[in-house]
Amino acid sequence: MDLMAPERFTGSFTQQEPIPEEGIEAAVAVLRHGRLHRYNTAPGEVAETALLEEEFAALVGAKYCLAVASGGYALGCALRAVGVKAGDRVLTNAFTLAPVPGSIAALGAVPVFVEVTEDLVIDLSHLERMAGESGARVLMLSHMRGHLCDMDALMALCNRLGVTVIEDCAHTMGASWNGVPSGRHGLVGCYSMQTYKHINSGEGGFLVSDDAEVMARAVLLSGSYMLYARHRAAPAPEVFENIRLDVPNVSGRMDNLRAAILRPQLKRLEDRRERWGVLYRTLEAGLAGTNGLRLVPRPAAEVYVASSFQFLLPDWPEGRIRALIARCAARGVELKWFGAPEPVAFTSRYEHWRYAAPVPLPQTDKVLAGLIDMRLPLTFSPEDAALIGRIIRAEVLAVQQSGEEVAAVVLGD
Ligand SMILES: *Cc1c(COP(=O)(O)O)cnc(C)c1O
Repeated sequence: MDLMAPERFTGSFTQQEPIPEEGIEAAVAVLRHGRLHRYNTAPGEVAETALLEEEFAALVGAKYCLAVASGGYALGCALRAVGVKAGDRVLTNAFTLAPVPGSIAALGAVPVFVEVTEDLVIDLSHLERMAGESGARVLMLSHMRGHLCDMDALMALCNRLGVTVIEDCAHTMGASWNGVPSGRHGLVGCYSMQTYKHINSGEGGFLVSDDAEVMARAVLLSGSYMLYARHRAAPAPEVFENIRLDVPNVSGRMDNLRAAILRPQLKRLEDRRERWGVLYRTLEAGLAGTNGLRLVPRPAAEVYVASSFQFLLPDWPEGRIRALIARCAARGVELKWFGAPEPVAFTSRYEHWRYAAPVPLPQTDKVLAGLIDMRLPLTFSPEDAALIGRIIRAEVLAVQQSGEEVAAVVLGD
């Protein structure tokens, strides 16, 4: 072996596992009978979508569950269902993904951004301050990249302030805080089944809640027409009686094809969480104690589903971070950076969401300037995770030693 040749990683950071055979067979059965619409059922048949909702409600211990077209749709539907109107202010994390402020803006409501801590969770003291300053009565809490804040403290604070909590669990399906599943602390929990999340139907979303009125509104909003009695995890038909003519149809249903693909994956969620945990902890061990690199501590109360990995390069000059990203890329390791001046692919930050007229948040700026992010698909083996850890560690040390910096590429050149 050539001792001078550096190790290279050759796997794909965007390759998911295939759909389980059981899901493929169920999908083919739906295609064969042709009843893809959730309310198109043969006599006595229960739609795949209704069964999926029932199974997910049981999994997270919720009274009600609604499956919808996407995670972003679930967020907008939840906001409408709890009564957010155009012009209302809605608190949300400054560190999140674009569809979160987008769901608020889509209602004509106004996002009010809250600072992130260096542990990558919402800053509770800034939340209290912004709730007071803005008068907002709803928090869209995004568990961005799967990091849960102290949910007991957050709920105590929001209850005291009279702030309704909607949870964005796009990165925390299967996670929990002090034994309570993520999505079950707030009034409504929202999830995504988009390809890069924890179960995969290409697109898809869930809402869960124990509140009968809110869920009846969500079911009507999703486009149930007067067929809501065909659900199995929805409130009783009486709950719909008084509101069914007042709630608009904002069509965004789940279909039976995607539900068929998802049902077998729900059964595997726990197994996936364990496998993600092995990859995460392998990487974490490989990077521990690397000079100049800060790992994100994981509280004992948190059970996480680590479909991605983050670390911080506190106070690094931008040029050095660019040099590190280039060096890692040359060895097959794809890192994403939340500090880049321009949004790249899926990665953007609050100041890029100009429609929301964001005000500067110095603490968030400082954290995001050094925040590195990496996907961790389940097609990686623990050996892959160890190799990726060795490459990052070596390049972090090498780039600091050489003092190398790479200038920003001017876009449009
Ligand atoms: C993906 C994602 C969403 C939205 O989910 P879609 O299903 O893609 O609409 C919301 N919040 C976060 C943090 C996400 O990553």
